[in-house]
Amino acid sequence: MPRSLRRCGLALAVAAGCALALCLLWRGGPAAGRGERGAAPGSELNHKPRSLSSSQLKHLTSQLDLQRLWKTCLQPMLVERYPGSLGNVRVRQFIMEKLRALEASWQVELDAFEDRTPHGMVSFANVVATLDPTATWRLVLACHYDSKYFPRDKHGRAFVGATDSAVPCSILLELVTALDKLLLKARGQGSKITLQLLFFDGEEAFQEWSKTDSLYGARHLAEHMGRAPHLQGITQLQAISLFVLLDLLGAPRPTIQNHFLATAGWFKRLISIEERMHQLSLLQSHSQEQPYFQRDSPYGFIEDDHTPFLRKGVPVLHLIATPFPRVWHTLEDTEANLHPPTVENLSKILAAFLAEYLWL
Ligand SMILES: [Zn+2]
Repeated sequence: MPRSLRRCGLALAVAAGCALALCLLWRGGPAAGRGERGAAPGSELNHKPRSLSSSQLKHLTSQLDLQRLWKTCLQPMLVERYPGSLGNVRVRQFIMEKLRALEASWQVELDAFEDRTPHGMVSFANVVATLDPTATWRLVLACHYDSKYFPRDKHGRAFVGATDSAVPCSILLELVTALDKLLLKARGQGSKITLQLLFFDGEEAFQEWSKTDSLYGARHLAEHMGRAPHLQGITQLQAISLFVLLDLLGAPRPTIQNHFLATAGWFKRLISIEERMHQLSLLQSHSQEQPYFQRDSPYGFIEDDHTPFLRKGVPVLHLIATPFPRVWHTLEDTEANLHPPTVENLSKILAAFLAEYLWL
């Protein structure tokens, strides 16, 4: 769950039933380049996507397999997995095994640490997977794999956070599975830009969302990457050309807004991919009148795993449904309340975005 804040002017509730979730409207947000990193790498890199033809789009999306996503990625993650729990350890191992089984031979690492929480000292671990660690630049796709801690109900039911964020995690795993051969080829060609996946632990607050009780994994990793040297005198953090965070996805009819001027061009790319796919009849149960990616949306800011990276000047796309899903932070955030065609459609749009960005 992310928390929303309001900084100036209009109060806009983004989630029913969430008194704290007030959306911040501000022009542009902390623009890339103003953080600790100095100039935004986007300006140094000036990276341009390569458009896919209609037949390439059709072929690419035919590689995705919703059944595989659902049965082999999503369902194993639909367990209680708050930090420090057995489910958390198992899901983390599951993600790492999935990544290590890919042909593209990813470098899979753990960023493990302990932190003080309202529940005492807790062990956390982020999963960091890099396709080609020797490439200069990195497109990052990120989500959180922990679930929020809630006491079980009187029937023993646990919170499993299907949209929050098992679905985003399973979309990332399906993308790299479906594109495995293309990613292997790209790696072999020694491209300057590669793909990195971040699966954060400890996104959720144990009690009340605050600076110290939330974003445990993202805060730790942003700090680490800001110090860790990469290549040519830049840090691992500076090597991130674009940071794409997925959260609260999988419910029907999501609307996703752009939050940052600095990355508006990349968001427009998502809008146009969705339009093209709709025209090519590649999307199921999809309305042209209510697209997922919204054209005329306010620039808002919602606190989430991207925040520690954004504050250090990393260019961010925050792909989160606003308003939040109806089932958000309830025991109803389950598989039964997901909308499979939406999950499939979002996976297809993101696959095309990836292929265009990475020139696959
Ligand atoms: Zn949550």
